Amino acid sequence: MRDDAPLFDPQAFRLTSQEAELTELARTLGAENFAGRAAAYDRDAVFPTENYDDLHAAGLLSICVPKAHGGHGASYRAYMLTAAEIGRYCGATALTFNMHVCSCLWSGDLADDLDMNGLERDRHDRHRARHYARIVKEGRIYAQPFSEGGAAAAGVVLFSTSAKKVDGGWVINGKKIFASLSGHAHYYGVLCGEVKPGEKPSRKDTMYIAVPADAEGVSVEGDWDPLGMRATVSRNLVFKDVFAADDEELMPRGVYYQAATRWPHMFMTLSPAYMGIAQGAYDFTVKYLRGEWPGLPPVKRRMYPTKQITLAEMRVRLEQTKALWFQAISEARVDPSKEQVLRAYAAQYTVMENANELCRLAIRTCGGQSMLKSLPIERLYRDSRCGSLMLPWTAEICLDRIGREGLYEPGETD
Ligand SMILES: Cc1cc2nc3c(=O)[nH]c(=O)nc-3n(C[C@H](O)[C@H](O)[C@H](O)COP(=O)(O)OP(=O)(O)OC[C@H]3O[C@@H](n4cnc5c(N)ncnc54)[C@H](O)[C@@H]3O)c2cc1C
Repeated sequence: MRDDAPLFDPQAFRLTSQEAELTELARTLGAENFAGRAAAYDRDAVFPTENYDDLHAAGLLSICVPKAHGGHGASYRAYMLTAAEIGRYCGATALTFNMHVCSCLWSGDLADDLDMNGLERDRHDRHRARHYARIVKEGRIYAQPFSEGGAAAAGVVLFSTSAKKVDGGWVINGKKIFASLSGHAHYYGVLCGEVKPGEKPSRKDTMYIAVPADAEGVSVEGDWDPLGMRATVSRNLVFKDVFAADDEELMPRGVYYQAATRWPHMFMTLSPAYMGIAQGAYDFTVKYLRGEWPGLPPVKRRMYPTKQITLAEMRVRLEQTKALWFQAISEARVDPSKEQVLRAYAAQYTVMENANELCRLAIRTCGGQSMLKSLPIERLYRDSRCGSLMLPWTAEICLDRIGREGLYEPGETD
């Protein structure tokens, strides 16, 4: 029986009818299909292939593909709310869903907000139509490898994975670490730096190019045996003289840099997985303390004042997290104000830190049995640990920027 209320009640949060429908669809899939599979994916650190089959069948792989191209045409906020519902039931599915959806969202709604001349716009329209068709018609999955183990993923320097322009396309060389969906995605949306002989590397030359997983020179390396988010299968990817045709460009030259500087909320798209985990930790605690967790003896623990206080503390944190996150995702837009950007950092920080804190409180108050692998809170606890480590907006980097940007206006020094 379904007894989980929507994470964001459509009436209370005044969701659009599309948001209400998409979140309901995700919640149904999550509760009925993903929740039951999550433990095995986590135990074996295997990719949630069956969940992706379900996402494709439900049309959710195309959530941010424009309606004209056969998708749902969901906005940034609609995607974020939908992914959060998935994260309640399987964090790794929600997190990898982000990597896939960004290939549509960034090349779609975000790119539409950015400056391009007519020729660039036409070319981009042709390219993205090809990507969208693959996703809508064939259920193709895209990954998003940008981390390299250096300063590039934090947005400090240009990516060292290089893209050299040649006749008809690009030749890509380099290595990515933590490439979620490696070995499972059909395309890797690689962030790389265009090589311009004689010129100093500049972040303005960042390219976003889809590399077919079966292209010559692509290999997946290393093992994947992490603490949490194990089903993301985030192994290393190596590109050795890999050719990608021009129409694999997910954004034209210069547009990724524009997006990163003018549409900063694009870097919050990892947070829904953890918003979902925060809610999942709270839901578990209520059921457990009421003696209603399926499969366990109906032992009630709710009568102890310490449990009630801890649950109250969890609820306060959850409501604070939801309110701030909802506000931040509602005001995401091109060229946001300074206040909106600071709020986005604060929201990202709050979700990532509080997801882990809610899981910690859940285990402490539910007690020893709750840390057994037979119960989902043990997995949620481990998964939640990863959130604040995710570049480019780690919890540390968010704090760093809130402090600096709160005290200095652009260009100011001491
Ligand atoms: C489950 C999971 C899935 C992932 N999936 C993907 C994926 O699909 N694609 C992808 O590209 N990456 C992915 N990542 C990678 C992630 O974003 C990081 O790149 C990764 O965790 C490696 O971090 P690091 O230890 O090399 O970070 P480092 O660069 O060594 O940074 C360590 C810490 O130092 C701080 N720091 C770093 N740079 C700065 C700075 N300039 N200013 C202030 N503080 C700084 C940050 O807080 C950071 O957490 C994933 C990570 C996890 C945990």
